[in-house]
Amino acid sequence: NRSKTPSTQQITEGLLAGNKTQLSRALTRIESTAEKHQQEGREIIEACLPHANKSIRIGVTGVPGVGKSTFIESFGKLLTSKENKVAVLTVDPSSSLSKGSILGDKTRMEELVKDPNAFIRPSASGDSLGGVAQKTREAIILCEAAGYNIIVIETVGVGQSETAVHSMTDFFLLLKLAGAGDELQGIKRGIMEMADAIVINKADGENRKAAKMAKNEFNRALHLYPPKESGWTPKTLTCSALENEGIDDVWKLIEAYISETKKNQYFQHKRTEQNKFWLLQTIENTLKRDFYNNPKVKKALEVQLKLIEANKTSPFEAAAYLLKLKK
Ligand code: GDP
Repeated sequence: NRSKTPSTQQITEGLLAGNKTQLSRALTRIESTAEKHQQEGREIIEACLPHANKSIRIGVTGVPGVGKSTFIESFGKLLTSKENKVAVLTVDPSSSLSKGSILGDKTRMEELVKDPNAFIRPSASGDSLGGVAQKTREAIILCEAAGYNIIVIETVGVGQSETAVHSMTDFFLLLKLAGAGDELQGIKRGIMEMADAIVINKADGENRKAAKMAKNEFNRALHLYPPKESGWTPKTLTCSALENEGIDDVWKLIEAYISETKKNQYFQHKRTEQNKFWLLQTIENTLKRDFYNNPKVKKALEVQLKLIEANKTSPFEAAAYLLKLKK
């Protein structure tokens, strides 16, 4: 029977052997909202954990149109040409709001998709950024266990998604465009502080000079920030993702960062801190999910919302009542 669903063990074994179909299946399990699938997903993650953790995790962010997918395609091809296995994951909180996500609709990274040493997975959907981020976090573990030694996590850069991606990566790359001398305007301060490198993309043709100027301006701005705990001074570069220029330098920079932070032990320290953070996040997500999935709560919540509408209870009284409901 060809349509027979493979067992958790079959999926895990295939995944660990590097089989993309089984990796995709495992990811579908963890993304599913069905309790049975989630349980299977947890079993697979458990079996994968001893094989995870050995990758470099790189976050890439930038506004829509900056060239993220073009960059990741060039970057990914460079990495696979150097005998790496690259997985590309995406955190797109908007995928929960509408069926068509910001990143989703067009065919992206057409060449990288075909590369046997690359694996590309669109964003999980979820009803909150926390949920999407947790699934991505789990996806990292599965991809690492499947042998991917470089994980690129892309985010659209809306709202809090950069912070989420920053909290699951070793290196955080901000893509920017050269403007008309007002590069620093409109850039959220927190994002500058998270960046380990700022790369000005589309440094080609007539745009070359402006890109160089932007690079210098960002460089000056970065020096105004206090030194990072990593001991690393954020760097600025220019590149053309389209013409494949300067991509190698970005990789060299990341290698330098990894080597420096492994030497000063910040690399492991950061991962440990991230694990602590994710422990708390997982608890929070689970409590929330269990609470809202409780049938009693579902029913009572509707009633309480109506009572609020009719001004017959206060939010605090209603919350206290709902939180006390047992399964
Ligand atoms: P994303 O929305 O950030 O993923 O951006 P895309 O990768 O889809 O790129 C948006 C547009 O910019 C596309 O038309 C790309 O061809 C173009 N683009 C991307 N990188 C470069 C580059 O380095 N130079 C130039 N000239 N165009 C680029």
